[in-house]
Amino acid sequence: MSEPKFPTPEELQQKISEFMKTQFGGNVSVSTHVATEPDGAPTYDFEMDDDFFEFDYLPRDIKAYLDRFVIKQDEAKKVLSIAVCDHYNNVNYMHRLKKESAQKAYETEYAKQNVILIGPTGVGKTYLIKHIADLIGVPFAKADATKFSETGYVGGDVDDLVRELLRQADGDIAIAQYGIIYIDEIDKIAAMQNPTGRDVSGRGVQTALLKLMEETDVPVRNPMDLQGQLQAALEFQKSGGRPQPQTINTRHILFIVSGAFDKLKGVILQRVKQSRIGFAAEPAGSLDDAGLFRRATTRDFIDFGFEPEFIGRLPVRVVCEELNVADLFEIMKRSEGSIIRQYERAFQAYGIEVAFEDEALRRIAQLAAEEKTGARGLLTVCERILRQFKYELPGSGVTRFNVDADLIEQPDATLQKLLALGHAEKTKAHAAVARDFARQFTEKHDVRIKFSDDAIARLVAVADSENVEMLDLCERLFKDYEFGLKLARGSGKTLILTADAIDSPDKFLSDWLVKTFRGTPPEDTPA
Ligand code: ADP
Repeated sequence: MSEPKFPTPEELQQKISEFMKTQFGGNVSVSTHVATEPDGAPTYDFEMDDDFFEFDYLPRDIKAYLDRFVIKQDEAKKVLSIAVCDHYNNVNYMHRLKKESAQKAYETEYAKQNVILIGPTGVGKTYLIKHIADLIGVPFAKADATKFSETGYVGGDVDDLVRELLRQADGDIAIAQYGIIYIDEIDKIAAMQNPTGRDVSGRGVQTALLKLMEETDVPVRNPMDLQGQLQAALEFQKSGGRPQPQTINTRHILFIVSGAFDKLKGVILQRVKQSRIGFAAEPAGSLDDAGLFRRATTRDFIDFGFEPEFIGRLPVRVVCEELNVADLFEIMKRSEGSIIRQYERAFQAYGIEVAFEDEALRRIAQLAAEEKTGARGLLTVCERILRQFKYELPGSGVTRFNVDADLIEQPDATLQKLLALGHAEKTKAHAAVARDFARQFTEKHDVRIKFSDDAIARLVAVADSENVEMLDLCERLFKDYEFGLKLARGSGKTLILTADAIDSPDKFLSDWLVKTFRGTPPEDTPA
C-alpha cells in the first residue's frame, strides 16, 4: 500500500487556512515554506533571476561618480571603489558558478571585502556609502551599533538590520541579499570604550554581527513579532498561495562599519612609540589623526577591544579626513548634493529666487567649522541664519534676494530691510491691480470711478490682513456698484472712492448718489 501523498504547499496552505477559519473566523491564512537544496549546501531560499544582478563597474567609474557628490576623501573613495568592485565582481562570479554547480559555489571560499571606515563625524562616511549603493542599485540599511547593546535582545535587533534591507528592496529578497549594511559607532562596542572594563553587551553585539558577516539565514519576519508573522500569512494568501522564501541569506551582503575611534589613537601612538625605540621611524608626533589611523594594525584594533574574529572579518580599512574651511566651502559650491541647492529649491517653491555670494559661503564655512561637526555644521549654521527668512519671506512680496556677507553678519537687520522692500513691492503690485479694476469698471459701465491714495492704502492693508487677492477683494467690496450706479451712467461724473468707501462701500455709494443727484437717490439704490 502506498503512503498517503504529502500535500502540495497549496493544499497545505488551504488546509491550515480552513483550520484558522474555524478557529478564528474571517479571512486568515498562514504561509508555508518549502526549501530544497543539494545535499550539504545551506538552504538558499531564493531563486536568483538569471540576469537580475550584473555588476560591471570599474573602480574608476565609482570614484568618478562619488567625485560628483563627495568633496575630498580621495583615498577613501579609491579604497571603497576597489572594495565594492571586488565584492560585487565576486558576486557575479558566484552567480555564474552557481548556475553550473550549487555545490561548487558553496565550497568556493572568498574573503568578503567588509570595510572599517574611520573618521570624525560629518565628513562624508555615510554619504559615500549611500551614494555607492545608489549607483549600483542595491539596498542600503544603516544603524548605530550602540542601539544594539541598549536592549537585551541583541541577536534579534541585529537581524532587524537585515530585514531593513528587505524593506528597502520593497520586499524583494533576491535584491536584499546583495545589499549594503552600514553600522556606525562601531567603536562604542569595543571593550576599551567601557570604563569598567567589563563589556558583556559589546562583545555580544560583536558576536551577533560576526554571525551575519560570516553567513547566516535571517528569517524574513522577526520571530518575536506576532503581527509580522500574521502579516506574512496574509501576504502569502494575497500572492495567490505561491510559496514565499522565508529567509534572507547574508553571504553576499557587504558590511561597512564606522566610527570616530578617538581612543584608538592612543593605542596606535603607544605602539608606534614603542617600536621607535628599536627603529628610527618618522616621529609619531608629526602625524595628524588621519596619518595615525592609517598606521592602525589588526593588533591595535584588538588592543582597542575588538574580538580577533570580528576584526578579522573586516579586512578593508579606510580613513576619512577632517574637513577644513576650504573643504566646507567647496562642498557648498561644488557638491551636487550641496545644501545650497536645497535652500534654492526651498525658496523657489514660494516663487523667491535666492543667490548665494561666495563671500557669504566663505563666512558660512568658517562658522560651520567652529561647530566641529564636519559638513553637518553647514546645515546648522544655514538653518540658524536663514530660518526666519524661510518663515517671513514667503508671501511678503520679496521675489528675490542675495545671501551676502552682510546678511550672514546681520541676519535680523537684513531681513527687516528685505521685508520693507517686499512690502513696497507688494503695495505697488496691489495698487496697480486696484487701479486696473477701476479703469475696467469705468470702461465697462460708462461711469468713472477712481481710488484716492488713501483708498489704495486701505485696500492694500485689507488685502494683506485678510490674505486675499486684490482683484477678489475689489470685486467683493464693489459688487453692487454696477447696479447702484446705473443712474450715473453717461453723466460724466467721477466717483472718487476714499478709504471710507473701503470700510463701508454701500453707504458710501448711497451718500454720494444723494449728494450728487440733489437728494433724489434712485429708488433702487442699495441702502
Ligand atoms: P558621517 O561621516 O558622520 O557619516 P555624513 O556622511 O552623514 O557624515 O555627512 C552628513 C552630511 O554632510 C551629508 O549628508 C552631506 O550632505 C554632507 N557631507 C559630509 N561630508 C561631505 C563631503 N566630504 N562632501 C560633500 N558633502 C559632505
